[in-house]
Order: sequence, then structure tokens, then C-alpha cells
Amino acid sequence: MNEPTLKFLVTCPSCALQSMTEISIALVANALLTEKNIRLYASCHDLYWTATFVEREQLRKMLRTMKVDARQRTVVQLVSSHSRDGLRKSGSH
Ligand SMILES: [Zn+2]
Repeated sequence: MNEPTLKFLVTCPSCALQSMTEISIALVANALLTEKNIRLYASCHDLYWTATFVEREQLRKMLRTMKVDARQRTVVQLVSSHSRDGLRKSGSH
């Protein structure tokens, strides 16, 4: 079974080179909902790091705007509604 993924442009923390990485939609959605860390990867330096707040917001926006099949739609809607709470929280500090 092919797991649905999304392509995400990451910037290498070491050399600032941008590269395309592919992440499982389920993994991203789950991490955004549960405030878990998202691991990103830069192939140029074979480097893993934890997604920053900005990167998480980019992923959230991508999930919200992308076309998803019915199976994924529920979780994407959850992420979108969760996002409003997150923004309110971040505005207070
Ligand atoms: Zn690099």
C-alpha cells in the first residue's frame, strides 16, 4: 500500500541549501495534532533536525490547502481547526 506523502522544501541548517523532502501526510498530521516533533532531513549533509515552529506552520498550511482524498480529509480538518488554537496561543507570548 502506498502511503500518501507530501513534498516539502527544507532548508539545510548547515549550508542553507534548499532541497525537497518527502514526508508521510499521516505522520505530519499526527505530529501537528499531538504537538510531537517532526523530523526533517537534508540529504546534502545527511542531517536530521526537528522542525521549527515556522516549518511546522508551513507544513500545516500545506496540509490545509492540498487536495486530499476522503480518508485523509478528516485529519486535515482536525489539523486546520487545531491551528486556530495554536495561533492564539503563540500570539500571547
Ligand atoms: Zn547542507
